[in-house]
Amino acid sequence: MVPATPEAHPGQSRHVVVIGGGLAGLVAALDLGRAGPDVRVTLLEATDRVGGKLALAEVAGHRVDVGAEAMLALRPEGVDLIRDLGAGDDIVAPETTLASIWSRGALHPIPRATLMGIPSSHDGLGALLDEEEQARLDAEQPWDGPVEPDVSVGDYIGTRLGQAVIDRLVEPLLGGVYAGRADELSLRATMPAVWTAAVAGGSLLEAARRSAPPPPPPGQSGRPVFAGIRGGVGRLPELLLDALPDGVEVRTTTTCRAIEPADNGFRVLVGPTTAEEWIEADAVIVATPPTAAGRLLGSVAPVAGASLSAMPTASSAVITMAFPRAGMPTLEGSGFLVPSVDGHLVKGATFSGNKWAWTGELDPDVVYVRTSIGRAGEEALLQRPDEELVATCVRELGEAVGATLPAPIDSHVQRWGGGLPQYTIGHVERMAAATAAVAAVPGVEVCGAAYQGVGIPAVIASAHAAAATILTHLGTGADRTGE
Ligand SMILES: Cc1cc2nc3c(=O)[nH]c(=O)nc-3n(C[C@H](O)[C@H](O)[C@H](O)COP(=O)(O)OP(=O)(O)OC[C@H]3O[C@@H](n4cnc5c(N)ncnc54)[C@H](O)[C@@H]3O)c2cc1C
Repeated sequence: MVPATPEAHPGQSRHVVVIGGGLAGLVAALDLGRAGPDVRVTLLEATDRVGGKLALAEVAGHRVDVGAEAMLALRPEGVDLIRDLGAGDDIVAPETTLASIWSRGALHPIPRATLMGIPSSHDGLGALLDEEEQARLDAEQPWDGPVEPDVSVGDYIGTRLGQAVIDRLVEPLLGGVYAGRADELSLRATMPAVWTAAVAGGSLLEAARRSAPPPPPPGQSGRPVFAGIRGGVGRLPELLLDALPDGVEVRTTTTCRAIEPADNGFRVLVGPTTAEEWIEADAVIVATPPTAAGRLLGSVAPVAGASLSAMPTASSAVITMAFPRAGMPTLEGSGFLVPSVDGHLVKGATFSGNKWAWTGELDPDVVYVRTSIGRAGEEALLQRPDEELVATCVRELGEAVGATLPAPIDSHVQRWGGGLPQYTIGHVERMAAATAAVAAVPGVEVCGAAYQGVGIPAVIASAHAAAATILTHLGTGADRTGE
């Protein structure tokens, strides 16, 4: 049953339920709430806090990010939102983005000019690839198979430039974003610039060469690629909460269990079976991770529901360690990534105090380092006790930087079960079909990391779009800018 577009009666408010209080749900609720008194919003969040994968935790007496910690600044949505929330003065650029790859027992600087990890030649790779691997890279091979509609990152790039480029460059970089495996990830969805070059044909090395940004003018450092917030990206949920207008009610520890069509729109089921509550809504935005979204959409948009339910996710954990400065070796750069083929637990480390000035200044006697662990299919690793995970991270960090590290003063383990949707082969087409199926049900919208990008700006963009569509459906005549 497809509910009719509600008739707009002057003075009668419309009720929108937003399900999921992560970044996407908060931004959608803000946009809807700002549309004016005609729109009433209820934001439902299953856990006891909003923010989802944006979170701060206290480590050695100071709050630091234990979820996302940076955002792409080349897209406007993240920095625009922070300015809009009145925290523009707190936007910071990383002090350094010089990162390394810890490969075969040594740290190798990540070459500057790559197309999403693809180098334009073996120059600048140093010993990251051995001689044979470098020769294989230079002897680029043709790709005989189709690239449309999609192909895996591993198959395409591995075939053209050799498996070592995948193992030692592309997969570590992609692993930092998706925690995924190159042979399963979609080239089209995760490396769109490479996919476009692949569709156009021609040399991949040449495409990498063309994509290299021109060097900044002498004395200038160029436009920062990434941005953070002084005090942590995990402040965003608090900033968003503070900005929500009165017409938005936030209900935490409220898991949504079902959405059903109803006479005037929809009804949404919350609460345990012993105390069920149905909430009437003119419209609904589903802003949960894909598995929950799939379940919830099953009764209103089954095609979308099935596709989202089938989307794999990867679990990971962020392990933050506060080391005593005394006895700590000097750490160079912003951190390092680790190829999975080398068999370490740690998949990446961020030298937080080097990367973010505000973290470096938290305590003169403390050095903060965060490591991330867990790739798609490695869920069992995360079952290990906290102490074991911390001890392994400290040992591997020491091996990477070539020193025995002092015991941390404090540490924090944040597990993110199913935290990252996997954009596997065919993702773009599947999500196009899923969102088309949702669009066929006026009054229902979806947003979040499952659809067109897991990064903060992409998630914000999806939330703005969902809220705008719902406002149009409700006939309020207002969009998020209130015009
Ligand atoms: C460890 C880690 C590090 C990351 N680092 C970065 C980074 O540095 N930069 C970057 O750009 N991106 C990063 N990301 C990605 C980015 O943080 C996420 O993609 C983004 O925050 C997801 O926002 P979301 O609102 O779509 O989903 P979520 O944050 O997952 O929020 C969804 C919310 O829905 C709630 N929910 C689920 N089911 C229900 C239900 N049935 N009823 C009610 N509520 C429900 C959940 O509890 C959750 O709060 C990182 C992700 C992870 C996991």
